[in-house]
Amino acid sequence: MEIIKRLQKEEELVWMNPKYNQNMAEGHGLTMADVEDAEKRLKRFAPFIKKCFPETASQQGIIESPLVEITRMKEACGVKGRLLLKQDSELSVAGSVKARGGIYEVLKHTEELAVFHGLLGEDLENEDYGKLADERCKEFFSQYTIQAGSTGNLGLSIGITSAAVGYRVIIHMSADAREWKKELLRRHGVTVVEYESDYSEAVENGRRLSDKDPKSYFVDDENSRNLFLGYAVAARRLKVQLEAQNIKTDGEHPLFVYIPCGIGGAPGGVTFGLKEIFGEHVHCFFVEPSKAPCMLLGMATGKHSGICVQDIGLTGMTHADGLAVGRPSGFVGKVMEPRLSGIFTVGDGRLYDYMRRLKETENIFIEPSACAAFEGPVKLMEYKETKAYLESRGLTEKMENSVHVAWATGGRLVPEEIRKEYEATYL
Ligand SMILES: *Cc1c(COP(=O)(O)O)cnc(C)c1O
Repeated sequence: MEIIKRLQKEEELVWMNPKYNQNMAEGHGLTMADVEDAEKRLKRFAPFIKKCFPETASQQGIIESPLVEITRMKEACGVKGRLLLKQDSELSVAGSVKARGGIYEVLKHTEELAVFHGLLGEDLENEDYGKLADERCKEFFSQYTIQAGSTGNLGLSIGITSAAVGYRVIIHMSADAREWKKELLRRHGVTVVEYESDYSEAVENGRRLSDKDPKSYFVDDENSRNLFLGYAVAARRLKVQLEAQNIKTDGEHPLFVYIPCGIGGAPGGVTFGLKEIFGEHVHCFFVEPSKAPCMLLGMATGKHSGICVQDIGLTGMTHADGLAVGRPSGFVGKVMEPRLSGIFTVGDGRLYDYMRRLKETENIFIEPSACAAFEGPVKLMEYKETKAYLESRGLTEKMENSVHVAWATGGRLVPEEIRKEYEATYL
């Protein structure tokens, strides 16, 4: 395949999804009702979150991030239409998009245990979840273990939340994981197991150890529907935020959303929710490092998790540590087949350039992985493939009215000295 040759050369490119809009009804068992159920569960847990994480008190225990217009960045990038930043980089607790999926999955598991063991009654809608933060409950949860494999940010999210609930926590960290993330976790009492190899082995070993222990629960980043649904809740929240800012999404005002992609759960969940809500009026794109374009490879070949970037001779090693994944989630790739418009790839060096540009123009810091999002709005009007996509849908004339959301997936927890290091990095 032509596209594989280009991926092997680590070219920056866009791949348009040939299956877009075909067989849209296929949701692989996922529906908007599941997303609504997830949102309700997060609401039930809000009093608990507020107690465990006082930083969320101003939002009544609902973990959500700002949506801000970034006009100066838009000018600097030459984007047509409006450019907004979805600042998951500012999410409480985990400081990244992982706060959505990771926290949700830990809470869902907690609810199941609590109901089974009578800490919560049957009538969940009328229960006070705040009581789960009591010492008595914490002690109960301390007999259970939560484990996860991570390149860093998922570990932070699962680790910090699980420790707050009272669980024993073991996080299996791949070689890409940054040292400060491991240290931060250890400060929360989390056991960090380090691996010399990539993410897949950390996951495999973590799962094996967890399966041996009946009181241990493994968060499976690759196949978890719970993580996916936690991420998907973001779409419902975004709709409310767009409306609050009087931003229309319809045939005359197309919405474009660009999300950095690693294994696919976070961008996949958000995209699933957005397509359910906005249908053909939203155009979702993922952005991957040209050194680790695993979702593109999986979707373009149709092999999904049956192929990894190492199979085509790439190392999968990238400065975008949150996106350093060699093998995509097969489940997410399939759900994305009719829903995703396309995938951009971006070189590592450009991530630092976008990072500096955002800091200079808007005084906002986001981590390099998150900066991948900007490749979308910057290149949308440049590549012949995306231009053809817009033209064939009658969108070219509507671009003045278009709205672009760059999904800033992480950054808040990055320590000052690491930020300085990033700012001085030129590749
Ligand atoms: C994890 C992560 C992503 C992508 O999420 P996946 O579920 O792995 O696709 C994007 N940006 C950052 C900063 C992340 O940590």
